[in-house]
Amino acid sequence: MIDGRTQVFGIIGCPVGHSASPRMHAAAYAAEKQNAIYVPFPVADMSHLPAAIAGIRALSIGGINVTIPYKEAVIPFLDSVDPDAMQAGAVNTIVNRNGILHGYNTDGDGLLLALVQEWGWEAKGKHVGIIGAGGSARGIALALCRASVAGLTVYSRTGIKTSALCRDISQYTEVPIVPLDVWTGVYDLVIQTTPAGMAGHNEGVLPLSDMSWVYPGQGVVDIVYKPEVTAFMREAQARGARVLGGAGMLAGQGVLAYRHMTGSECGYRVMRQVLGA
Ligand code: NAP
Repeated sequence: MIDGRTQVFGIIGCPVGHSASPRMHAAAYAAEKQNAIYVPFPVADMSHLPAAIAGIRALSIGGINVTIPYKEAVIPFLDSVDPDAMQAGAVNTIVNRNGILHGYNTDGDGLLLALVQEWGWEAKGKHVGIIGAGGSARGIALALCRASVAGLTVYSRTGIKTSALCRDISQYTEVPIVPLDVWTGVYDLVIQTTPAGMAGHNEGVLPLSDMSWVYPGQGVVDIVYKPEVTAFMREAQARGARVLGGAGMLAGQGVLAYRHMTGSECGYRVMRQVLGA
């Protein structure tokens, strides 16, 4: 029931109609008996972004998630940005504390939370291979370094971007980060961060045509969440890998965003179930 005390949260992006976040957060409010609602706010283009951010303050909206294409663009409008989000160069969660807007990024840590919840997997001391060198790869790589992985290897189709990402992240960590020209796949965990498995993308450009590098028991993650099971995941599973799709990371980032926004906890399973698990 909405009443005079209901707190408003939401998500900005373009588009936002496809977002699972309203359903995830609504399920958490119900489970945790929070008097709150979570609303999708489409922001049609960049020219509306300053007014959208001002609206968070003006309407005392408690917190906002940020999705494509505004994760980087919101940063100059915030009063403070968490150092981890600053290193990632992107904010996916804005919290309004008495008119002061604080930015966070829960994507990378959300994936780590999902790995703990799904597999009991701890990053410390592990060797991880990341496919892709975009925004998600960056956030995930930083989170893995904070969690003390033994080493990171990054592979993408654009070598110059791979090298730049590794060089950049190396400023923030002692963890060895190596750009790779030829994929070998010999890692405890492999994380696929490109949109290649999404409908309409060409999967053939990834090191997927030959997946003989997969070994039984290896951890393999695809952060793509539509479709729920990608060809990459299917092939890895067929070769005996332990496989996790993008719904895990989506639920994990949601749980951490909920914590920032409400100051309380919600169960990972509550959000994960909304995504069909
Ligand atoms: P991004 O910043 O655009 O980075 C994409 C990366 O993938 C780049 O390295 C790009 O290489 C590479 N790439 C693009 N298309 C490719 C293809 N067909 N084959 C091989 N490499 C390709 O994108 P992003 O924000 O990191 O998002 C990537 C994916 O993660 C999207 O599918 C998104 O939906 C998903 N995602 C999931 C979650 C979750 O919670 N599960 C969260 C965030 C994002 P070039 O630089 O050479 O183009």
